[in-house]
Amino acid sequence: MSIISEQKTDSLDVNRIRQDFPVLNTLVHKKPLVYLDNGATTQKPRIVIEKLNELYQSKNSSIHRGVHTLSENMTGEYENAREIVRKFINARSSNEIVFTSGATGSINAIAFSFGEKFIKEGDEIIISEMEHHSNIVPWQMLCERKKAKLRIIPFDENGELMQHEFELLFTKKTRLLALTQASNSLGTLNPVKEMIRFAHDHEVPVMIDGAQAIQHGHVDVQDLNCDFYVFSGHKVFGPTGIGVLYGKEAMLDVLPPYQGGGDMVDCVKFEKTTYNILPFKFEAGTSNYTGAIALGTALQYVDSIGIDAIVKYEKSLLSYAEEKLKKIEGLDIYGTAENKISVLSFLIQGLHPYDTGMILDKMGIAVRTGTHCTQPVMDHFKIAGTIRASMVFYNTFEELDRLVEGLVKAKEMLS
Ligand code: PLP
Repeated sequence: MSIISEQKTDSLDVNRIRQDFPVLNTLVHKKPLVYLDNGATTQKPRIVIEKLNELYQSKNSSIHRGVHTLSENMTGEYENAREIVRKFINARSSNEIVFTSGATGSINAIAFSFGEKFIKEGDEIIISEMEHHSNIVPWQMLCERKKAKLRIIPFDENGELMQHEFELLFTKKTRLLALTQASNSLGTLNPVKEMIRFAHDHEVPVMIDGAQAIQHGHVDVQDLNCDFYVFSGHKVFGPTGIGVLYGKEAMLDVLPPYQGGGDMVDCVKFEKTTYNILPFKFEAGTSNYTGAIALGTALQYVDSIGIDAIVKYEKSLLSYAEEKLKKIEGLDIYGTAENKISVLSFLIQGLHPYDTGMILDKMGIAVRTGTHCTQPVMDHFKIAGTIRASMVFYNTFEELDRLVEGLVKAKEMLS
């Protein structure tokens, strides 16, 4: 390990933390895995894996519908998970926490439900140029249905949203701002609190896509004062197929359900059906209760490490990686904002990102190549895609050294 890394790992016992993640011991092509694809999905600590095992091995039962012991216990654990999520993002009430299938599921739910209630012909919705496809396409679909219009906040050469242009986009027809807190391909951390304040000054509600932010820093939805906040469990060390839709209670109260089925109803008659109270109104059908409970375990695990320590350590990983990558001749970094999560997108001149990614894979190094579901970001830079290394608290400085060595080798082989 380099000297820098020894100096900078003080606050976090990374070697001990790594032992919590069984997959990090995997060999890929007979080389120890270097997992730098955390932006796509994070690995799971043993307690999350064991929690899922325990639930299926000895506790499984559908929630909310039984008087028998297993069902009551599982319901208790599920509602406890809701409370863990509430605390983690500091929501005012657990009625404001809806479990969904993921960030994509949450955004589609809002686009449908909010769209049904509030969007009509000629209305405008603001998103940004750096959104993930999941925060573009649902709004495009809504705009098509309602003949509404999408307005786009541009970003500058560093990958920072242009605040003057943002302010100019607001008109009397603006109905919603849907914005990512952190860009998955540029790494930019947007000044969402200030942007929410500006939108509210214009009486426009705001949805924040926290899919790439919640695993990298504190989230306090009351402090942000956003109207909606969404994220995915699998990107914050929890299972796949589970996510969260936070909405202010007053907002969720007036929105119609977006799916019908069991659990979301109060009374069903052929003449008329009435709906359940919050948050169940938005949880139709048998939910992913094991996923929700294991997500609760994952958030408790993150809390046990300490978000302040995570932020500090990831900052040092990012600046170490940046410094080392910049020394590779012909390497261009895309996304050089002042405030960033630990994500680095780059290209080496003359090298195709897929070829580079495949060579890195042969060395056991997992990075992502391509558009990262942000095609408009690639169009902005007139490139087909990038190589993306995304780091979290279990990554080490040694792994970053291996990435750099791998890139130098790939360059020699492909040039
Ligand atoms: N928003 C952002 C910023 C993302 O990075 C992603 C996934 O990469 C999503 C939304 C969608 O998340 P999911 O596929 O888990 O629903």
